[in-house]
Amino acid sequence: MDTKEQKLDLEFAYPDKQRSELSRSFLVFKLLNNPLLVNISSKATLLALKLGLPIGFAIKQTIFKHFCGGETLEESVKVIENLGNDGIFTTLDYSAESEESAAFFEKTKTEILKAIDFAKGNSLVKSLAIKPTGLISYNLLKKKSETDELNSKEQEAYCAAINRIDQICHAAYKHKIEVYIDAEESTTQKALDDISIEMMKKYNQDKAVVYITLQMYRKDRLAFLGELVEMAKQERYFLGVKLVRGAYWDKERERERRKGGEEIVFSQKEDTDSAFNNALDLCIENLDNVYVCNATHNEVSSEYLALAMHKKNLPKDYQAIQFSQLYGMSDHISYSMAKAGYNVSKYLPYGPVKQVIPYLIRRAEENTAISGQLGREIQLIEQAMERKIE
Ligand SMILES: Cc1cc2nc3c(=O)[nH]c(=O)nc-3n(C[C@H](O)[C@H](O)[C@H](O)COP(=O)(O)OP(=O)(O)OC[C@H]3O[C@@H](n4cnc5c(N)ncnc54)[C@H](O)[C@@H]3O)c2cc1C
Repeated sequence: MDTKEQKLDLEFAYPDKQRSELSRSFLVFKLLNNPLLVNISSKATLLALKLGLPIGFAIKQTIFKHFCGGETLEESVKVIENLGNDGIFTTLDYSAESEESAAFFEKTKTEILKAIDFAKGNSLVKSLAIKPTGLISYNLLKKKSETDELNSKEQEAYCAAINRIDQICHAAYKHKIEVYIDAEESTTQKALDDISIEMMKKYNQDKAVVYITLQMYRKDRLAFLGELVEMAKQERYFLGVKLVRGAYWDKERERERRKGGEEIVFSQKEDTDSAFNNALDLCIENLDNVYVCNATHNEVSSEYLALAMHKKNLPKDYQAIQFSQLYGMSDHISYSMAKAGYNVSKYLPYGPVKQVIPYLIRRAEENTAISGQLGREIQLIEQAMERKIE
């Protein structure tokens, strides 16, 4: 097969959606296409929640339904089955983000252990994501990233947090479920890198169970990936790596502007794009030791990895390579690649509406930031709606 023949057809989307669901998605994306409206709605939503106004129902019927599976695992089953019918696996993502207390962190851990229990009996769920600040305090992670000198109370809280993450990774290992440790703001990342490496050394002896996340908008991440590959080779475990561009670009730039000093993230989108694709190359050159999850809505990066696999004569469903998108976004990539035979999963957030709102606001802001891509989503939904009329 030549390169041309390998070009992916990414037009296949929304095969199972009813017209009413398509109309809802269309309205959600139209709303997101208006940055001013998103800004005002995000602030109004946060204020309404603070005031205790009953807006949960309205949110649940609109943007929540578009981006989330449900408030509980049970409510998410239908979405998981629908995705599975089209060959797409689910990555469970308990997305509650609200408090900084030991009780809240323990509750998150219990929910994630429940998710592992659910996944072990469900062939459509092979992985789950953990958002570290749902399990450990942001301030503690930040302090640990800056210095190793925690006081005894902090040290105790830190050990308790590592223990929570270890319990999750251990249960996942036991039941052969993969765990993606999400990346967050750069202020906390050093500690998270250390935790992810510790868990990989412990649980990735036979295959990658635990995945570290690398945000390729960071200037240092390609070199860091090289170090991780070497470390995994020398210490004989599998490196699991989820590659993303990074969701906190505006925040990171704003912090750099405020504080001055070293620039952590690229200022040009093209630099992030080439770092991302170079990281894909590095992974594919080291597949004896590396499992990679290509977590992106970018068509070029999706095609780039598909082509690299083809050049290496790898089967499309090669076990160590995953493609992943967020539920409610870039369905055309997920459905088309699954139909073509690649391993594809969707991150499926679920949790109480109120606690998922920070996640929804991030998605709304991100979608307005990538208006070019949004235009494409709207166009594909319009085409699907037309097909349902015919
Ligand atoms: C399955 C999945 C899991 C994810 N997990 C995480 C996670 O754990 N942590 C996390 O931070 N994000 C995560 N994300 C979000 C991800 O980081 C991106 O924000 C999002 O996917 C958009 O990037 P893209 O690759 O889809 O493509 P694109 O839409 O092509 O790229 C947009 C991205 O490019 C970067 N960018 C934009 N403008 C510039 C500029 N001027 N200079 C340099 N770079 C720029 C930003 O990272 C922006 O998000 C995840 C995404 C997916 C699909």
